[in-house]
Formats: sequence, C-alpha cells, structure tokens
Amino acid sequence: MGETTRVLITGGAGFLGSHLTDRLLEAGHEVVVFDNLITGREDNLAHVFGHGRFRFVRQNVTEFLYLPGPLDAVVHFASPASPIDYLRMPIPTLKVGSLGTHNALGLSLAKHARFLLASTSEVYGDPQIHPQPETYWGHVNPVGPRGVYDEAKRFAEAITMAYHRYHGLDTRIVRIFNTYGPRMRPDDGRVVSNFIVQALRGESLTVYGQGDQTRSFTYCDDLIDGILRLLLHDDTGPSASNDAAAGSDGAPDIHLPVNIGNSVEFTVADLAREVLTLTGSRSEIERRPLPIDDPKVRQPDITRARALLHWEPRVPLRAGLERTIPYFRESIAQAGSS
Ligand code: UDP
Repeated sequence: MGETTRVLITGGAGFLGSHLTDRLLEAGHEVVVFDNLITGREDNLAHVFGHGRFRFVRQNVTEFLYLPGPLDAVVHFASPASPIDYLRMPIPTLKVGSLGTHNALGLSLAKHARFLLASTSEVYGDPQIHPQPETYWGHVNPVGPRGVYDEAKRFAEAITMAYHRYHGLDTRIVRIFNTYGPRMRPDDGRVVSNFIVQALRGESLTVYGQGDQTRSFTYCDDLIDGILRLLLHDDTGPSASNDAAAGSDGAPDIHLPVNIGNSVEFTVADLAREVLTLTGSRSEIERRPLPIDDPKVRQPDITRARALLHWEPRVPLRAGLERTIPYFRESIAQAGSS
C-alpha cells in the first residue's frame, strides 16, 4: 500500500475498530467508518468527528455497500463479539459474518483494495489441542448457542480465502484472542469488563462454573499493533496453499490466518483475584452456571505472528488492568452523574 492510504473500517465505532481508527489517523491515513451502532458507540469516535481525514457513515454492512472514491484497504471488524451480544442477536451475527463479509469483500474487489478480516479464537471452539496453532481446525458445536458466532466467523474465513484464491484478492485474516482495555462497554458482558465493573461497584464478581477455565488476555494496544503489522505488511508472498500455515514453497503465507493474542494463560479465578487486588475492592465471589459450550481452555500459539510480523505482546495482564480500571471508574462515575 502507498504512503497515505484510505481505509474503510466496518464496525469502526466498536471497542477495537475505534482504536484502529485512532492509530491509522495518527499515522496520517484517511479513515471511513461504517457502523450500524448495534454494539458500537459514537462516543468511541467523538474525538475524531470533524477530523479532516475521517468520515463516519451509519450503515448496516449486511446491506449493499456503496462508497465513492478510491480505497486502499477494507478492514472488516463489524460483528457483535461478546457472548451476551451474539446470544441476544444470533441472526444479525450470522448475517454480518456471511452477507456482511461478502459485501465487504465485493467492495474490496471493486476497489482493488486489500481486505483484512477480524476473525476470532472462537474458530477453535472448545479446543482439543492446546495451545492453538493456526493449523488446528477446531472443535466447534455448529448447532449450539455459540455456533452463531463461531460458524459465522468460520464462514467468513472460508469466503475470504475463496476471494483470495479465486479472484486473486489480497486478503489477510487475524484470529483475535480475548482482548480488553478502555472503550469496552461497562455492560459488554465479557469477563474483564464484568469483573472490573462489579469490583468498582462493590457487587459480587460473577464467576461462571468453577473458575478453572482459562483464557489468555491481550491488552488492546498490543492487539492493534499486531493488526496494523498484518494490514500494512507489503510482502504478499506465495499464494495460499490448502495446508498448514505456509505457502506451497514452505514460506509463511501472509494470506493464511494469523493468531494475535497474549500467550500468558490465566484461569478466570486468577483474573478475579487480580481485579480484586488492583481495585482494592472487598467484593465477594458469586458462582454462576457455566454457559453452554464455554471453552475450557484457550491460549494462542503465536509462533507465526512472531516470525511473519515480528510481533510480540508487550503489556502483561497486571499493567493492562492498571490502564483499564481508571477508564471504567470514569465510565461508572459519568453514568452515575447523568
Ligand atoms: N466469565 C465469568 N464471569 C463473567 C463473564 C465471563 O466467569 O461475568 C467466564 C466465561 O464463562 C468464560 C470466560 O470468563 O469462561 C471468558 O468469557 P468472555 O465472555 O469474556 O469471553 P469468551 O472467551 O467466552 O468469548
């Protein structure tokens, strides 16, 4: 891609899309955001409204997409991503992963723009291989409640690879592992936001199941750094082969999925303890039933991101929580005063 690029971010008003918008604007690029605001918030972008290189369009990406002018890249972030959101909106989730991805790919093709899909560690389901390399095909229940998200993203990956193989489109796929940080909604429902908000309000921390299930938590700045490296990487390398995470000549293939996540694994109970320590809260722990098909373990194998992108997570959980807690403190104070 050239020096100054024009990038469309679908879902750019969301937690991660808005951070990516900031980073691209800071680097001198032009950003157009499409978002229907079902989980995204204009507040996340309030500070860039009026910026000369920024434009916001309220748009449902499952409907036909039109954008005049040239475009260098399309980053497809649009989708509910928290379990409570996709369980509440199963059909919009399936539609944005399928129809929305198809529309975003079609727009990329028409504009000769690079395409980057935000995929997920959920493609591995409740994994039977640990940690998870990109070559693992996963263990997903297609008809369980989480299947609406997992299968939508698996379809999105499949159609992205088809556009690459059939149309020669320059595509990238990032598999995002549990990410947290400022701009998550206080009612987002995910474990980091729930625990911090509960601790700050003096409510019990809701631990689902025994709390011995694991996740590997990535601070948002680390994740965005990895995504930018993948997006801006100019070595298009060999064409994708049908096997492994390497091209037909064995070289790493930029078009095949890349895990981006912190590889340090914690139990949910560890996280609850850490949040209580860092907030100084005296909240109790309250056990709730484990959701259906909740993955028991999750940890990325990031060998490929290290080799291909020279990417390494830099922010350990404690430091990331220390940056995130003040944001939630302020959000709660604002909600209380309005
Ligand atoms: N979880 C929990 N309490 C909560 C929210 C989530 O114990 O209030 C657990 C959940 O069951 C899962 C883990 O925390 O095992 C991560 O859940 P989250 O919704 O953040 O993301 P997931 O990895 O399941 O998509």
